[in-house]
Amino acid sequence: MSKVESRPYSLTEEFGSSVFNDATMRERLPKETYKALKKTIDEGTPLLPHIAEIVANAMKDWAIEKGATHYTHWFQPMTGITAEKHDSFISPTVDGKVIMEFSGKELIKGEPDASSFPSGGLRATFEARGYTTWDCTSPAFIRDTTLYIPTAFCSYTGEVLDKKTPLLRSMEALNKQALRILRLFGNTTTTRVITTVGAEQEYFLIDKELFDQRKDLIFTGRTLFGAKPPKGQEMEDHYYGTLKERISAFMKELDQELWRLGVYSKTKHNEVAPAQHEIAPIFGTTNVATDHNQLIMDTLKKVALRHGLVCLLHEKPFAGVNGSGKHNNWSMSTNDGQNLLDPGNTPHENAQFLVFLCAVIKAVDEYADLLRASAANAGNDLRLGANEAPPAIISIFLGDQLTDILEQIENGGARTSINNGELKIGVSTLPALPKDATDRNRTSPFAFTGNKFEFRMVPSSASISGPNFVLNTIVAEVLSKMADRLEKATDFNAELQSLLKEIVTNHKRIIFNGNNYCEEWIKEAERRGLHNIDNTVDAIMALTDEKNIRVFEKHGVLNKTELLSRCEILLETYIKTINIEALTMLDMAKRQILPAVIRFTGDIASTITSIKATGLNVDISAQSELLEETSTLLAQLKKRIADLEKAASDAANFNGDTYEHAVIYRDVVLAKMSELRAVADKLETIVDEKLWPFPTYGQLLFNI
Ligand code: ADP
Ligand code: MG
Repeated sequence: MSKVESRPYSLTEEFGSSVFNDATMRERLPKETYKALKKTIDEGTPLLPHIAEIVANAMKDWAIEKGATHYTHWFQPMTGITAEKHDSFISPTVDGKVIMEFSGKELIKGEPDASSFPSGGLRATFEARGYTTWDCTSPAFIRDTTLYIPTAFCSYTGEVLDKKTPLLRSMEALNKQALRILRLFGNTTTTRVITTVGAEQEYFLIDKELFDQRKDLIFTGRTLFGAKPPKGQEMEDHYYGTLKERISAFMKELDQELWRLGVYSKTKHNEVAPAQHEIAPIFGTTNVATDHNQLIMDTLKKVALRHGLVCLLHEKPFAGVNGSGKHNNWSMSTNDGQNLLDPGNTPHENAQFLVFLCAVIKAVDEYADLLRASAANAGNDLRLGANEAPPAIISIFLGDQLTDILEQIENGGARTSINNGELKIGVSTLPALPKDATDRNRTSPFAFTGNKFEFRMVPSSASISGPNFVLNTIVAEVLSKMADRLEKATDFNAELQSLLKEIVTNHKRIIFNGNNYCEEWIKEAERRGLHNIDNTVDAIMALTDEKNIRVFEKHGVLNKTELLSRCEILLETYIKTINIEALTMLDMAKRQILPAVIRFTGDIASTITSIKATGLNVDISAQSELLEETSTLLAQLKKRIADLEKAASDAANFNGDTYEHAVIYRDVVLAKMSELRAVADKLETIVDEKLWPFPTYGQLLFNI
């Protein structure tokens, strides 16, 4: 919403102006209430009803002053996007008028009908009720005329039905275990460890008028047909290129809208593929970063429409050019501002850093299958392993310097010493650790980038909750095992030394600093025994693995029933996605492409007939050959339509196990889809462009 204002735009004034943030709370709440709420937010203490009452009232007054008429419990069901139902603040009075009311109870708890959200069999439809509960660690905000209250969502019987709850629980688990490690290093001041995330979001922008002419984009978010245009991304002229005015106007409005919502939108640029762009905010706590990423995705779509554009968040909207991902930058930090993945200046700090670093290395190696699962969706299958995105194999890039240090640890090069009573742990003889390591590797799926890890497999359209609750949980698990051992140690330094050595020895196979895109790596990874799961269906099954169920249960993140239901939901989503794609292809092929090609052959045939009718001795071999070629392809097209139709209908009628059902879509339906596409794309390069029934890649990618 570009406001008509007489005053010039002030970013600092506008920033967070639609957010019930700390400053607003401090200003609007009685001191005692503010303190109590702060304690709940920072330390997780329960919120007392009378406090909630005062907060609700202050929130309502603030929202109404800002023009709000409604509130909504904003939640994140298993659809991967957000859900909202708006209630107005009105309450009738005896004189036929209304007052505006909002109670503490309404703030804290909602009871939406949950029967139409994915539950993976967790909830029978007759148990329609679900609960939403306020997540006060993520601030409420106003959009349009509604007060949005971030909430967690569970079923009547308490099963988790959303993406927020496991994330919050995993943050709690990591906090608990990381604090144990910090205490072992003599830290008595830190009271909380949080995980931090900065998610870089890639997206495409295309013209709305063209979008509207393509059913595939409308129904599936990606193109299902489309021949390669003469130009793709080979000139490398789009990446970081100058922003076109229309795009720039869009980005400006996007930023302003996000800033108002308290999102620290920081960078914007053109990405590698034509029509592709990226936005990245400054990192924050994982919970808020996840909410903000949802706001970013939603705002991208809404603002695009105001500019006659459509924002595509799909992982692979166009074949032949780069797809989109999300780079999930992740670290751990203390409430007193220490980044635990920041190599320190002293040996003491370095040793602590190495503990957290090695914890991540071990976690990623032991639970690579879970991380892979967390990045799986049908769209990402078209991207991972292609020449632009990380491969489906999980490995860690550390850079040469850090790898060298780990090798020294493994070879016993790091010694323990106590000097002048000062603790010099484990690594005192090591060279200073590299700070802000500058070497970069763009091909690694999981790269250490100086003071954080960057998980690059994450799908562009998905919530970042999954990858992060997996990361938090598996790192918490390793930290807990490390703490178990170190707490019992009689000689802390010696134990630490052997622990780190053991981790490096056992898990160095996951470290790979080379080019992840090359063929040799696939073979090498296999030799090292690393997973290479190239499809969603198999990746998802990691959720049913006993070892993985154990880790989630142990840390109270999700129980077995909840995990199995998630697996079911993800498989069903996969099935539905491919089914919609197949049906859309059939619709386009039968009712758009086929008639267009028939018209084209008809045109050639009538030309031939009329030329012949002239009785002149004219060379009509060109027309005849073209007619022959097109007719052959047309017959193939018809045949492949029939094949896909059969495959799709067989798949839809399959009655049995969800996994096997998904396998049919993966192995049979997708194969028939690509066969159909191949012949249709060939025809696109032959048929008169005036007859082609929808905009081509050239138009979609290069018309802005
Ligand atoms: P690039 O990977 O493109 O070079 P940057 O280095 O600017 O990008 O960082 C990418 C993202 O990483 C940003 O969102 C940034 O805020 C985030 N980031 C930086 N430090 C941390 C951290 N300690 N924890 C989580 N994210 C971080
Ligand atoms: Mg990055």
